[in-house]
Amino acid sequence: MKIKVLTLFPEIYSSLNVSIIGKALEKGVFETDIINIRDYSCDKHKKCDDYPYGGGVGMVMTPQPLHDAIVKNDPNHEFLRIYLSPKGQTLNQNLVEKLAKKDKIMLINGSYEGVDQRVIDLDVDMELSIGDYVLTSGDLASLVVINCVARYIPSVLGSSESVSDESFAKGMLEYPHYTRPQVFENLSVPDVLLSGNHAEIKRWREQKSKEITQKKRPDLLEKE
Ligand code: SAM
Repeated sequence: MKIKVLTLFPEIYSSLNVSIIGKALEKGVFETDIINIRDYSCDKHKKCDDYPYGGGVGMVMTPQPLHDAIVKNDPNHEFLRIYLSPKGQTLNQNLVEKLAKKDKIMLINGSYEGVDQRVIDLDVDMELSIGDYVLTSGDLASLVVINCVARYIPSVLGSSESVSDESFAKGMLEYPHYTRPQVFENLSVPDVLLSGNHAEIKRWREQKSKEITQKKRPDLLEKE
């Protein structure tokens, strides 16, 4: 998979070089290309924002640099062009799985009060939000998208079990985990996990998964 990121703040993406995602990038399991929108500005000071028509607070990203950055980096429209926006469809695990099946994704990041609507109308395939709150730019949202989508690319995680067993994968939250020591601060690991009986352990985990979902996110069970 190739992910192109259009941003005014390329330095934010240095965190991609860390941990599991960093290793996957190093191995070439997927590729990212971080593109500075400012490089495409025809303004002699490389300006990318201006005052909003109609007045109001804040600045708006001008259409020229962003439009050129999109079109020059995807001349044949091969990439799924996603504009990160609080007005977009909210990201969830179903959508993450769908995005992970794409070969080419472009993440377009707004800043200031957002981007000129004409770029959205002309160049964007979908708007995507990471939740009902407002960030200063789309970049943290893009990092979230890259992180959760990359986990679904085969060989990014150690074992394919890792994604299929997790919260949301089966419409439920995951069961609790325990590791050594067997007793910690007078709290013991549940006996069943020490029993070696795999069928019992599976049943216990399914039961816990249901209980936790019922308690914390009953809305997930209602969707089934
Ligand atoms: N004025 C916009 C509004 O009220 O809808 C918010 C603009 S926000 C300060 C600047 C940029 O951050 C947006 O253009 C968008 O790219 C990004 N952004 C903010 N919140 C986001 C969210 N919840 N999900 C995805 N992107 C977000």
